[in-house]
Amino acid sequence: MYYGFDMGGTKIELGVFDTDLQHIWQKRVPTPCDDYQQLLAVLHALIVEADAFCGKRGLVGIGIPGLPNEDGTLFTANVPAAMGQTLPRDLGALIGREVKVENDANCFVLSEAWDREFRCYPTVLGIILGTGVGGGLIVNGKVMSGRNYIAGEFGHLRLPVDALEVLGRGIPRIACGCGHDGCIENYISGRGFEWMYAHFYQQHLPARQIIAHYQAGEPQAMAHVDRFLEVLAICLGNLLTIIDPHLVVIGGGLSNFEEIYQALPKRLPAHLLRVAKLPRIEKARYGDAGGVRGAAFLNLLGSH
Ligand SMILES: [Zn+2]
Repeated sequence: MYYGFDMGGTKIELGVFDTDLQHIWQKRVPTPCDDYQQLLAVLHALIVEADAFCGKRGLVGIGIPGLPNEDGTLFTANVPAAMGQTLPRDLGALIGREVKVENDANCFVLSEAWDREFRCYPTVLGIILGTGVGGGLIVNGKVMSGRNYIAGEFGHLRLPVDALEVLGRGIPRIACGCGHDGCIENYISGRGFEWMYAHFYQQHLPARQIIAHYQAGEPQAMAHVDRFLEVLAICLGNLLTIIDPHLVVIGGGLSNFEEIYQALPKRLPAHLLRVAKLPRIEKARYGDAGGVRGAAFLNLLGSH
């Protein structure tokens, strides 16, 4: 049995998966505000309950909105109760099992990589086009976390020079939450989609409305989408040249904009080496359920 926790700022969800990776049980509880002992107690109680349901002891993985540190502590700004705490070690001692912890964006990609149809692909690149841009890389069914657990933080790459040709050399370098400016997440995220429209047309509209205008054939929205998709293709093209994945999975709110899947295969070749064959590009299949799935699958052994 595989237990996956999706630990967020307001709720903790536990999903239990059997050895066929089928979802068989779940429970959701509020996240304790800032009391670490209470957080440990809540997680412990959920595991005891899941063990009783399964009649055996499952393997435990936790997805967090943050990063594990080298010293075993967690960096989780949105979950103050876990911030700076040695959660994997302390919870592991309580339940007598190893506890694996991984960044939630990596869990999202891992969940997709273990999809029944997708698991044949050795390398899976996941990108989340949400409020920001997150992502991750799965190699042979395992998360590639990197030296600092920041592999897959694609959102903080710099805007490529080709994008400046599309957006204009005078495009503002937007200050990013990471402390730098000009990071691509401020341009190709859902927020960036709206910012770009406002920048060119001095009109603040929600992405949903801009897309509705585009679908109605409104010329301004058509020009905007054309510009956005080209910048997205340029940024993704750079990633493909570095990673050369077999499958690309796109998640987040903007992944529901179907035009992306028509446009990328047409636009990408211009930004790749001539010998490069395109990877398969798909919309993420698990939505919010990817958090618990990916956390649970941290304990899967070996390759696909
Ligand atoms: Zn940044």
